[in-house]
Amino acid sequence: MRIVLLGPPGAGKGTQAVLLAEKRGIPHISTGQMMRDAVSSGSDLGKKVKKFLDAGELVPDNLVIELIKERLSRADCRTGFLLDGFPRTLEQAKSLTVLLKSLNKELTHVIEITVPESVILERIKRRGETGSGRSDDNTEVASKRLQVYWAQTAPVSKYYQELGSLVEVNGLGTIEEVQSRIQGKI
Ligand code: ADP
Repeated sequence: MRIVLLGPPGAGKGTQAVLLAEKRGIPHISTGQMMRDAVSSGSDLGKKVKKFLDAGELVPDNLVIELIKERLSRADCRTGFLLDGFPRTLEQAKSLTVLLKSLNKELTHVIEITVPESVILERIKRRGETGSGRSDDNTEVASKRLQVYWAQTAPVSKYYQELGSLVEVNGLGTIEEVQSRIQGKI
């Protein structure tokens, strides 16, 4: 099973991804987490990445694509994977298609968690106030991330829609409700 989970920041994508990957016994690959790990390791890559993260901007495509290529080549991805936070630009989506094709593989599911924008704004505001511990979780950076989402990531949904592989799932309700809707599409 090779799954891409899409959805705006605040849609609950990360939470659903963890549950789904566990249930299916496939690795959960979160590029956001990979970036945060790079930053906290203090590596050269981390230093490069930090300024984008803190500004709520996307890390350059070539960097992320290289990281994903390496990650997907590891043994644990042989039986499948769940991508969370990637692809986030049209360029990344096309690179993923090419990469999988070169491995004679395809995505099996592309699932988008949809939530009305008003709800997203409310959730992000709350997350900023309570403090998730993430340096990019204040309201200002979060709304920048949302802006980046509409400009750069929404076209990714359209790309998969045109390929006929996009499935939408309503992201309103409890964690369990949303999870069982996702399970129902797989
Ligand atoms: P969110 O909570 O907004 O979904 P993530 O945890 O997925 O955030 O990502 C946090 C940050 O990591 C993003 O704002 C961006 O700077 C960087 N990032 C994560 N995935 C990608 C990607 N595929 N391409 C570029 N930047 C990324």
